[in-house]
Order: sequence, then structure tokens, then C-alpha cells
Amino acid sequence: MSERDPTNARTATDEQHTDATNDADATDKEFRSWTESSGTGTVNIKDMTKVYGTDSGELTAVDSMDLHIEAEEFVTVLGPSGCGKSTVMECIAGYLDPTEGEVLVNGDSVDGPDPTRGVVFQENRLFPWKTITENVRFGPQMRDAVDQSRIDRLFDQMGLEGFEDSYPHELSGGMQQRAELARLLANDPDIMLMDEPFSGLDAMTKELMQEKLLDVWEDDDRTVLFITHDVEEAILLADRVVVMTARPGQVKDVIDVDLDRPRDTDMVTTDRFNELQRRASESIHDEAERAMEQAEGRA
Ligand code: ADP
Repeated sequence: MSERDPTNARTATDEQHTDATNDADATDKEFRSWTESSGTGTVNIKDMTKVYGTDSGELTAVDSMDLHIEAEEFVTVLGPSGCGKSTVMECIAGYLDPTEGEVLVNGDSVDGPDPTRGVVFQENRLFPWKTITENVRFGPQMRDAVDQSRIDRLFDQMGLEGFEDSYPHELSGGMQQRAELARLLANDPDIMLMDEPFSGLDAMTKELMQEKLLDVWEDDDRTVLFITHDVEEAILLADRVVVMTARPGQVKDVIDVDLDRPRDTDMVTTDRFNELQRRASESIHDEAERAMEQAEGRA
């Protein structure tokens, strides 16, 4: 399996969007057509177990997990620390191989990283020595398919205009994550894998980022798998919330979020939101206790 590719750049053979127009006045509809996914974006985790070798023996991080994610679905994964959330995501990304079972994307077994699966972590993977523009252009450049008009529109969508020539360290945390999203979207992934991308941000910035992500997803209809340990965030964003058990991680509960879309952060005060939040909190409560006992060596 190949090394991690933080850029998620498409291969040089993929020229899916090279024929996009450069007309700066292109309509939103045209922009959406550039950013639409090409694949179906389904994810199927089948009886997946992941065992790590550690100095003190084998550690089963995930045990016989099954999960199917529909194309264009927004699924959040909620679970206590150490329950295997990142492990699952990294198996979908192709950074890790399951020990048993398999992960299928669009019906095919995952065999290493692929630019159609874009990954965002809590800490951005922007190249610190490149400007924001250079970072965002990097993926398309790798496949010789830079479309400056499209990149300009991503800068506009992410509110990064005026920061094209800035370096990542010159941007606030929220802006860095917006640049990270632009970098990801420049690669046009079918599936966005997001591992607690907003957990390092202050509350206000986090809200803005959640709204920005909802806008992007509602426009483009990509499949999103979003890991969080924030119950409110999990409900606000998702079509379905998957609650995981403490380690070894399994699916404990799946909560259908029947809130209307489009959504915004004002919804968190509605009765239905509170009801869903209570249900998710109750579901995760015992698992969080078990995880704490594990961390303290009592379980
Ligand atoms: P989460 O994302 O839910 O916090 P992780 O998937 O990161 O959980 O980790 C699940 C468990 O596997 C944890 O106990 C963690 O310490 C362990 N783990 C993760 N990566 C490795 C590794 N490379 N080697 C050994 N143990 C690991």
C-alpha cells in the first residue's frame, strides 16, 4: 500500500474537468456541474476488524463492524476517544488495511489511497512553504488540469479572497480550515472523509465552518463521513448519526436525523433537535464511561 498522499491529487490520467469553461461569469449551475461527483460515492464496511500490534500485545481497535453509507449521504460518527473512529476512516481512505473483513467504495475493495476520497484532519495538511493558492492548485497541477476560474470560485466560496498569496501560518485557524476545504474540493472528491476537522476551533468559528460545510455539501451532493465527539455537531450536520461503542469499536446505534434541510446553527434550539440530541447523548453515555475506564486501566 502506498504512503499517505496528503494532497489527494488526482492521477494524471483523470481529465474529467479539463473541458470546464474559463468564463469568469459562469453561472452557479455551471460551477456546480464542475464540482459534481463522478462516482456514486457509496461506502460499504463489511464485518471489518482492525487489530494493531503494540508493545503490550495485540489491540483490537475495531471489531466486526458493518456500515453502509449511501451515495451523497452525510453520515456523522460519534464515539468516545479511542473507540476506533479514526481507524475506520483510515481504512476507508486506504491508509490502513483491515485485519479482517473489507471496505468497499463504489462496490470495489479499497486498495490504497485514491484522490476520489478526500481526507480532512483536525490539523490541516497544507504545505507551510506554499502560498494558499499554490496549496489549492497543487492537486489539479499534479494531473495537469489546473482551471484557474474554478479555483477562483473556490476562493470565493470559502471566503479566501485577498489571501491568495498568504502562507498558511498567516491565516487564522478557521481560515486555514477553509483553505484546507478548498484544497480538498479542488481535487473534486466523491467522498469527503473528515476527522474532527473543526474540533480545534473556537465556538464561533466552528459554527461558521459547520454552515460553510453544509452549504458546500448541499450544493455538491458529495458523500461525507464526518467524525466528531460533539453530539450537537453530529446531529446538526447529518442525515444519520452512527454511534460507536467503546473500544473495540462497533456500531451501537444509528440515529436518523429527520430535520429539514437546508440547515443552520439556529436549529439547535428546536424541540426536535433537542430530542435527537438527548437520544444520541444517552446512547453514547455508557460508552464514554467505558472508554474512560479503559483509559484509566480499569477495564
Ligand atoms: P478514535 O479515533 O476513536 O479516538 P483510534 O482509531 O485513533 O480511535 O484508535 C483506536 C484505538 O487503537 C486506540 O486505543 C488507539 O490507541 C489504538 N491505535 C490507533 N492507532 C494505532 C497504531 N498505529 N498502533 C497501535 N495502536 C493504535
